[in-house]
Amino acid sequence: MKSRGRGPAVAAATVRAWPAAIRAWPLWRMRTWPVWTMPPWLLGFIIAVVAADVAGLGFAASHPAGGLHGLVLFALLVACDVGSLELTRRAGEKAGIARGMYAVWELPAALLLPLMYAPIVPVIRLALTQWRVRRGFLYRRVFSAAALGLSYLAAALVFRSGVHWAGLVPPGQPGHLVAEPFRHGLNWMLVAAAAGLVQNVINTALVLTAAKGADHTIRLRDAQFSWEPLYNDLAELCLAVLVAFGVASSPIALLFAFPFAALPLRAIRHAQLVSDSRTDSKTGLLNARTWEHEAAAALARAVHAGQPLAVAVLDLDWFKLVNDTYGHLFGDEVLRQIGLCLPGALRDYDLAGRFGGEEFVLLLPFTRAVDAFRVADRVRGRIADLPLNAPGGEAVQVTASVGVAALEGGSQRELTELMAAADAALYRAKRGGRNQVQMLSPARGLSATSGLGEVFESHPLSGLARPMLPSQPGPPEMTTRGR
Ligand code: GH3
Ligand code: MG
Ligand code: MG
Repeated sequence: MKSRGRGPAVAAATVRAWPAAIRAWPLWRMRTWPVWTMPPWLLGFIIAVVAADVAGLGFAASHPAGGLHGLVLFALLVACDVGSLELTRRAGEKAGIARGMYAVWELPAALLLPLMYAPIVPVIRLALTQWRVRRGFLYRRVFSAAALGLSYLAAALVFRSGVHWAGLVPPGQPGHLVAEPFRHGLNWMLVAAAAGLVQNVINTALVLTAAKGADHTIRLRDAQFSWEPLYNDLAELCLAVLVAFGVASSPIALLFAFPFAALPLRAIRHAQLVSDSRTDSKTGLLNARTWEHEAAAALARAVHAGQPLAVAVLDLDWFKLVNDTYGHLFGDEVLRQIGLCLPGALRDYDLAGRFGGEEFVLLLPFTRAVDAFRVADRVRGRIADLPLNAPGGEAVQVTASVGVAALEGGSQRELTELMAAADAALYRAKRGGRNQVQMLSPARGLSATSGLGEVFESHPLSGLARPMLPSQPGPPEMTTRGR
């Protein structure tokens, strides 16, 4: 009786346990991958790259393995690749487009080993990255391995045709077996560098296409075409060619190369740490300390050169209410979106920072008061137009009040004075109904001791700001905007 009595209970428990068991299943978790919300072209692109790599693996596997020497060299190069990975492990992997120095070992593998090894090496490295460094979305790892595999396969083919074309190996002999690269030093290195360049261009094009397609806010110039990433790629390519050249002579070259090749990894980490220490992690903008430091230097230069300059202080309206209504995670997402939107609304030489909480600061060099007002109003408008969706899918509008203060004609001013003036203008914007820009009238001059009403007045241009909320004694009902 007892056991019969327990039977239905056990069965019910099993049924209740089912969803949890299914939820723990990796295939179930795949439902949460952002891949399913991607535009169809991007999904098609990712599938096409992975399929092309699978075909490439098949093509490479149809070539001879190259015997014990090839296998030993493959093991040594993979060991160096894994060693580099372990060196970066403590620092972790940066979110977004991660950088390393792996081509230093992977390019020689593509150039010197039989073709079948070229697309395999990145698969091993990315599998280990997933296991040892950071558990990212599996489909992203697979895509990265496929893009790298294809690019190394292309490099291997370019190198093989290059050495034949340059007459470095007799026709009929496999291109990777260039026994004496030193006899043809210059030509050998040029062909190897061309192959490395092809690898870099193909991989970069594939990865940036997918990254930009998945996130339109990624700035390609920052991600790839600024000095830091370009220099990183150049150093990686040069080291890879040197290592390939040395290893072609003797695998012992790896012993000498490894400690040396670890140095740029430290440099990358150092550059990353410096950049992290300057930026605010939530918004990606300059943090308050760095912004103040750079703003003080720019102000001193402007005063010295007699050039105009302006600062703006921006405070989100009723932001506590946004948090209270939709939760702090959504509030954080709003801050992140504003961090992404501000640089786009500013000129290249303007500086945006997060001052603290939901307050932002803008430094506008070479900017007269009237232009500063226009820039600030454009920023205000961009924030009000941000397409923000709360967790329930509702469209939410967040607005900001902005206070601007300008230094005209390089008159002697301290940053604290200018900031105090902008802050007072901001409070005026708050009192005036929010979602608007207020500015110190340059004609009245700055005076930190005078009463607000005497010193500050709405700039004549403030009519451009269209207050969306009436002047309110208290917070409005949190309203959502239909789209
Ligand atoms: P006002 O229009 O007068 O500025 O109203 P407000 O609610 O925005 O008032 P205030 O500027 O004083 O509010 C600051 C709020 O910003 C309080 C806090 O809930 C929120 N906040 C500050 N820092 C963060 C943050 O890092 N994340 C989130 N989600 N909220 C923050
Ligand atoms: Mg505030
Ligand atoms: Mg606020």
